[in-house]
Amino acid sequence: MSKYTLPDLEYDFGALEPHISGQIMQLHHDKHHAAYVKKANETLEKLDEARDKSDFTRIGGLEKALAFNLSGHVLHSLFWRNMTPKGGGRPKGELANAITRDFGSFDGFQKQITEVAGTIMGSGWGALVYEPMAGRLLCSQIYDHQSNLAQAGVPLLVIDAWEHAYYLQYKTEKTKFFEAVWNLWNWDDVAQRYDAACRMNLLIPQTVEVAAKR
Ligand code: MN
Repeated sequence: MSKYTLPDLEYDFGALEPHISGQIMQLHHDKHHAAYVKKANETLEKLDEARDKSDFTRIGGLEKALAFNLSGHVLHSLFWRNMTPKGGGRPKGELANAITRDFGSFDGFQKQITEVAGTIMGSGWGALVYEPMAGRLLCSQIYDHQSNLAQAGVPLLVIDAWEHAYYLQYKTEKTKFFEAVWNLWNWDDVAQRYDAACRMNLLIPQTVEVAAKR
């Protein structure tokens, strides 16, 4: 039985200051992210028990808990690696070309995803997503951790827009947090994810056609 584990950060908690405080990073990683990992594992165990007992009376709640907590684990794992202490600037190469192709310009992309993150009703994420049916990039507004993302979309860059991501430092000025993260993006990480997503074969017919045209 595979168990999910909390990944270590590749930098110190305080390494992203002044953009994200060490206190936020420590709580966010050690408490929030850790809780999603723990609950995802617990939910898998409860599903095992349900099967063993042939008692599926709670299956709906368990499936929802699995989607929520596992997606929380996935998105936080991605978020930590999307950032680096000396990040920022702009992407290069194929990723830069794809952003210009699909959003018109880098500035257009930056404005759109910042707006996506800043207008979530409740908790959620802004995400740059590779959409394999058309082989294009989209900005997606994810509710909680798991809703409102088109199926098969692959998140490449994510912005945590939950209050726990910024409130201790930015209070009610969340716009400043959404501006600050642009000093942290690790575009090499995002470019590697884009490259891997483009080469994925999801067995969706149109994916093969799009890949052939590249
Ligand atoms: Mn979070």
